[in-house]
Amino acid sequence: MTIHKPIASPLADWLAAPRPLLIGGEWRQARDGAAIDVEDPATGDVIGQAAAAGPNEIDEAVRAARIAFDRRIWRDKDADARARVLWRVGELIEQRLEILAELQTREVGMTLEVSRALVGFSAEGWRFAAGLCARAHGHTAPMRRGAFQGLAYSLKEPVGVVAGISAWNGPITMGTWKTAPALAAGCACVLKPAAEAPLSALMLAELIVEAGVPAGIVNVVPGGGAAGAALVDHAQVDKITFTGSTATGKRILAAAAATVKRVTLELGGKSPFIIFDDADLDRAIPMATMSICANAGQICVAGSRLLVQRGVYEQVVAGVAARAAALRIGNGLDPATQMGPLISERQLERVAGYIAGGRAGGAELVTGGERVGTRGWFVQPTVFAGVAPDMAIVREEIFGPVLSVIPFDDEAEALSIANDTRYGLSSYVWTRDHARALRMSDGIRAGTVHVNSAMFRAYEFAMGGFKESGLGRENGPDALAPFQETKWVVNDLEPSGG
Ligand code: NAD
Repeated sequence: MTIHKPIASPLADWLAAPRPLLIGGEWRQARDGAAIDVEDPATGDVIGQAAAAGPNEIDEAVRAARIAFDRRIWRDKDADARARVLWRVGELIEQRLEILAELQTREVGMTLEVSRALVGFSAEGWRFAAGLCARAHGHTAPMRRGAFQGLAYSLKEPVGVVAGISAWNGPITMGTWKTAPALAAGCACVLKPAAEAPLSALMLAELIVEAGVPAGIVNVVPGGGAAGAALVDHAQVDKITFTGSTATGKRILAAAAATVKRVTLELGGKSPFIIFDDADLDRAIPMATMSICANAGQICVAGSRLLVQRGVYEQVVAGVAARAAALRIGNGLDPATQMGPLISERQLERVAGYIAGGRAGGAELVTGGERVGTRGWFVQPTVFAGVAPDMAIVREEIFGPVLSVIPFDDEAEALSIANDTRYGLSSYVWTRDHARALRMSDGIRAGTVHVNSAMFRAYEFAMGGFKESGLGRENGPDALAPFQETKWVVNDLEPSGG
């Protein structure tokens, strides 16, 4: 089922020694020598180590960022000079696409095809950020009120030191989103990648340095929850941009209140994938399957609740179950693989717990439900029908390839089920009736509505959630805003009265 390829040079050389932290332009190990063992989820083998930041390293990284920010070595560079550096990061990513993609696959298990696509999308993110550099400007307003004859203008200033805390499931893309637009705004960054996937972020950091981002402007300090919490508590951090679970996001929001830090949260989801009777099923069925099986269901925007109109219900359930059951499961490095492993043994146990709960609660297991093999953390794509609205498999984010299918009669019922969740990240509407698509898009409470599409990403539109799926947006037309403060300068140009 799985292939266990030996790691080839130059990746093997790169992984031979623990990868150091990046603090103040220097690459170094943790003072106490702490390191994270990074496992390949397809085999359970340790593939390398990353230095682990403790409270001292977090403090040093924040101070380095603060000093670099306050010296204005980056924010005062002209916009074109900063844009060239960010563009260069994108070029370097594309030059190293293969090694980055292999490392990311080894670290998180996604197929090499998906990994390559995400690395390419990350390069695009740096070019997108390069284009933002010249857009960091505000408004002007003539001010005439009696004796006051003047002008007010706003400045869009960088917010300061940005702490980026990311989930493990797309480490290069998330490393990009947590730093590139912040750099375009003129900020300094401390990136804390997840302990499950620190290596890809550290390789990205090498390219950021090589491209010419000045020392101290980007610092990278892998670690677990304690390292993240130390960043959130640090008085010299101005802004947190977080991607991860809703539970952690709530903790961060509460902790950030102590120092009134600016906070952006990209959190979990339980997104509805809605198929009406008139939908193009030849496209909808494969997309619904991939929406829950891509990256083994470990994507925040997974369509994990499949809502199907009764006229096509049997056909869709059978179609999705057949496709899910036929997916080739294995090591992401094998070109034949269509679905890789879960990230860890812990996650496998968690997913198995939800499946057992669904079965025990009386849901109908249409396909899947079992672990695959004994080496690595593989699980079968799993489809449940006959679910009740209060079941955990329907209400909670599982972060695995587990789908609940729910029938509906009409538009009103579809909308009511779609919105019956504490989440509001993404949604998918499949119909040939465009007026209905517009009505559904209007009624769904989620950050993104994909109409007759899924799995499509671009920088023109923003990412983010309603309700407990998040706070604020990433990318899109307002991509700079989360990394800026607005200052209004109000001038009386004729202070003596003219
Ligand atoms: P997680 O919340 O467990 O961890 C995310 C990050 O937060 C990690 O870097 C972790 O070390 C850190 N962290 C943990 N406790 C912390 C604390 N108290 N203070 C500060 N930082 C802390 O999430 P995960 O398991 O790594 O990722 C899966 C989750 O991420 C899912 O819920 C998924 O939906 C979500 N996600 C959301 C998006 C999005 O854009 N909305 C994208 C990807 C993943």
